[in-house]
Amino acid sequence: MRLVLLGPPGAGKGTQAARISARHGVPAISTGQLFDQQISAGTALGRRAEHYVRAGELVPDEIVLDMVAERLTTSVDCEVGFLLDGFPRTVPQAEALDRMLGASCGPLDLVVDLVVGEDEVLERISRRAVSEGRRDDTEQTARRRLKVFAAETAPLRSHYAEQGLLRSVDGSGSPDEVSARIEEVLAAVAHPEVRASRP
Ligand code: ADP
Repeated sequence: MRLVLLGPPGAGKGTQAARISARHGVPAISTGQLFDQQISAGTALGRRAEHYVRAGELVPDEIVLDMVAERLTTSVDCEVGFLLDGFPRTVPQAEALDRMLGASCGPLDLVVDLVVGEDEVLERISRRAVSEGRRDDTEQTARRRLKVFAAETAPLRSHYAEQGLLRSVDGSGSPDEVSARIEEVLAAVAHPEVRASRP
């Protein structure tokens, strides 16, 4: 199963990625987490990315693509598949991913778009800032990240809709409610005949 999880910051991508990963046995690859590790370890890549992450800006495509290409080519099994969380985030990143997959595993199966309203997202982010002390979760950067999402990442919806891959899932409510909605959508990938036989 080759999946992308799309959605604004605070949509619950990390929580749902962990659940999908456990349930379907696919590794979840989160670029946010990879950057966090690189920054904590003080690597050259981490030092290049840190300033952008702290400001709530996107890390430049070139740095992101270097990191993702390495992760995909060194440790992804095409049979098992993968789940990408937080990548791609720009149209050029999506196009680069299409090329990478075209040359290796073959195209994506599905893009799950977690849809959550801006007010709910801001409330979730400020709650998380208090409980987890994330390095990029101040009110100001949260607002900045939402703006960046609307400008840079939301256009991916049409990119994937054109490819017939986009499935929008209501991301409001409890994690269990959201998981149940996602599982319904994924059933079509696990059992393609169900999808094919629907009118
Ligand atoms: P969230 O899911 O809350 O948006 P992430 O943990 O996915 O947060 O990402 C945190 C930060 O890492 C982003 O604000 C950005 O600076 C950087 N980042 C992660 N993935 C990407 C990407 N694909 N392209 C550019 N920057 C990225």
